Amino acid sequence: FTQDEQKIKVLSTVREKETSLEKYIYLISLQDRNETLFYRLVIDEIEELMPIIYTPTVGNACQQYGQIFRRPRGLYIPCNSKGFIYNILSNWPHKDVDVIVVTDGERILGLGDLGADGMGIPIGKLTLYTVCAGIDPAKTLPITIDVGTNNDELLSDPLYIGLRNKRIRGNDYDELIDEFMQATAKKFPKALIQFEDFANQNASRLLEKYRNSYCIFNDDIQGTGSVTLAGILSALRILNQSLEDQRILFYGAGSAAFGIAETIVKKMMALGMDINDARRRISFIDSRGLVVKDRANLNEKKRLYAHDMKKETNLIGIIDSLKPSIIIGVSGKPGTFCEPLLRKLAELNERPIIFALSNPTSKSECTAYEAYSWTDGKAIFASGSPFDPVSWKNTTFYPGQGNNAYIFPGIGLGIIVSRALYVTDEMFIAAAETLADFVTESDLKKGRLYPPLTKIRDISCKIA
Ligand code: NAD
Repeated sequence: FTQDEQKIKVLSTVREKETSLEKYIYLISLQDRNETLFYRLVIDEIEELMPIIYTPTVGNACQQYGQIFRRPRGLYIPCNSKGFIYNILSNWPHKDVDVIVVTDGERILGLGDLGADGMGIPIGKLTLYTVCAGIDPAKTLPITIDVGTNNDELLSDPLYIGLRNKRIRGNDYDELIDEFMQATAKKFPKALIQFEDFANQNASRLLEKYRNSYCIFNDDIQGTGSVTLAGILSALRILNQSLEDQRILFYGAGSAAFGIAETIVKKMMALGMDINDARRRISFIDSRGLVVKDRANLNEKKRLYAHDMKKETNLIGIIDSLKPSIIIGVSGKPGTFCEPLLRKLAELNERPIIFALSNPTSKSECTAYEAYSWTDGKAIFASGSPFDPVSWKNTTFYPGQGNNAYIFPGIGLGIIVSRALYVTDEMFIAAAETLADFVTESDLKKGRLYPPLTKIRDISCKIA
């Protein structure tokens, strides 16, 4: 059979599978059996298959990783291997590695601590490097650092694939990551390292610690910042408004939120705004309510955005006093953009910009249908996981997906071909602007904030 004929066969098999998870299992088996055909299929059918090999289905796959495990893929570094990490890396059969995606499994999408079962994420992200940017799969290396898990259900699950101990913390953890960084730089000196799905307490701390001495970035922070900025730039083209005039409210104040905020601030500064004026346009809500100056025990990041306002926990009250033009959900708490909140935003804005970015779909702050219907069709909406177009009254709305895959493969490709030594924030701003430039007037007329995924290879190339 020719490759085209083989493709017909595997595509029809995928389509016959009843559940997304079955499709995932089939595709992973195809990746193991016939990598060339797997990539041909996914590249050609990217809009249909991206949600299977990545969010939302990959979340479900990680939740059932032990159950669906067929063949191993990726490299595990268990915390009891301190002192031997270089040897473990040396076991990897390929000597020439361009990109590593590494996780410790503590915050897998919005699903929390999945321990070593989080391996589906580095595998999925690296698959996207090949699909979206043509990186040789043999030069990609998925790694899970198994530091244990605090997920009791997994610890008592006979099919859990990881170490059965609670997470190591503090010095033990830091020494392990230090050794990992040093060993990786020694073994694979050219490799770009992407940090993925580390929990809030480690994500930005490790990024700051290593970003000036190794070629690393954190996709949850910087990639998310970039893809969200691109979506906002597109939305502002619909409104014919400028970024400097927006009032932005974050629901959730973790890694993703600060990654987006800092990227927006940098873009505002590039437009000539003072850093403090830029930060004043941005507010945060966390699990204890509005982040304000009066609150005790705010971390360093939150203090930068803690404004002189009274403490408030009521969401509608917060919306009333801040009158945001843009609201961004990155809390992992589904259903929190409720009807009264969305109606209020529509009352305050001719067209509110609403981003419900929590993943997977089950964690989204609201659905696309809720966003459009509860704002009487006024919302300019994007989500983290894909939603189908929504027909409401006589209009069809096309929700955008703020998918990091628009950004990181292009960034990675650029770094690999240029052999850049470090990853800078400016790269992510340039990537956001490049991505936004791909959105056509006809996309905008349909409410689409991102270009179709079918253009992803051109986009990655331009970003690179
Ligand atoms: P995180 O754990 O670092 O942050 C979560 C934040 O939400 C914390 O600040 C927490 O205080 C806050 N929060 C929790 N419960 C809350 C509540 N009831 N009310 C208000 N705030 C509450 O996680 P993260 O890395 O920032 O990711 C958050 C979500 O964003 C995840 O679901 C993730 O999948 C999603 N995300 C999406 C994209 C994307 O779509 N491109 C990218 C990155 C992350």
